[in-house]
Amino acid sequence: MVKLLILGGTGEAAELARNLPSGIDVMTSWAGRTKTAPNLPGMVRIGGFNGAEGLRDFLLENKFDAVIDATHPFAAKISAHAAQACKEADIPRLTLLRPPWEKREGDHWVMVESLEDAAAKLPELGRRPLLTIGRQNLGIFTPVQDAHFFVRLIEPPAAALPLKNYSVLTGRPPFSLEEEQEHLRFEEIDLLITKQSGGNATYAKIEAARIAKIPVLMIKRPAPPPGETVSSIEACIEWLNRLSA
Ligand code: NAP
Repeated sequence: MVKLLILGGTGEAAELARNLPSGIDVMTSWAGRTKTAPNLPGMVRIGGFNGAEGLRDFLLENKFDAVIDATHPFAAKISAHAAQACKEADIPRLTLLRPPWEKREGDHWVMVESLEDAAAKLPELGRRPLLTIGRQNLGIFTPVQDAHFFVRLIEPPAAALPLKNYSVLTGRPPFSLEEEQEHLRFEEIDLLITKQSGGNATYAKIEAARIAKIPVLMIKRPAPPPGETVSSIEACIEWLNRLSA
């Protein structure tokens, strides 16, 4: 039996947990940002580990043999903690990282390094942006007072958002192209703000923006964690098979 910890918070983590070969004793860990976590085989734990040291101690105390970091490409902190913890505990670690979206003909992407740069650039590009960056860092857009934000969130916010003018659009990915086109038309959205997340579940908004000729303020990814990285569930399974051989 290989005892595996999957660091999750993504559709890929759930898909991996559901498609593991026999002989794997799995636990999937979620940060607990949303109220509902998917129903998964194996054990599930919710909440942080208290930094890299906390994660290292958790791995050693629970005698894990391997870690697959299947967190979001922008979840740089937990990935750095995983790299440090696994190194210190001498536990093999693999990163599952979805490929970034590729620009296609007709896309009008304005690439920026950070959310702060996106907020600074926004007034040049639109007045009615669809903001799809999650709920954690919305305060970065507080200084932009003359825009009406359409904020895409998975769950309704518990408190008022730190924005002057906004509407909330709730929904859990995946979204269809028709749904995204409907939002753009109905809300008269003139700009899309997104992280370069990659993956299929949230790609329809990119397609809808292309068709509607709406610019996209695209936030570049942080540097990936060090070590072996794959982009598919199949490659994770091959890695696990090699480990248990
Ligand atoms: P982050 O900045 O990299 O991590 C912040 C802290 O959250 C970590 O230090 C850790 O707390 C805890 N944490 C993160 N992922 C965890 C996991 N899988 N299991 C247990 N604890 C975890 O992460 P974030 O950007 O806030 O994202 C939080 C979660 O949402 C991630 O799991 C990510 O996969 C998912 N997510 C993120 C985005 C995004 O755009 N950032 C988008 C979709 C989904 P301790 O230090 O206490 O261990």
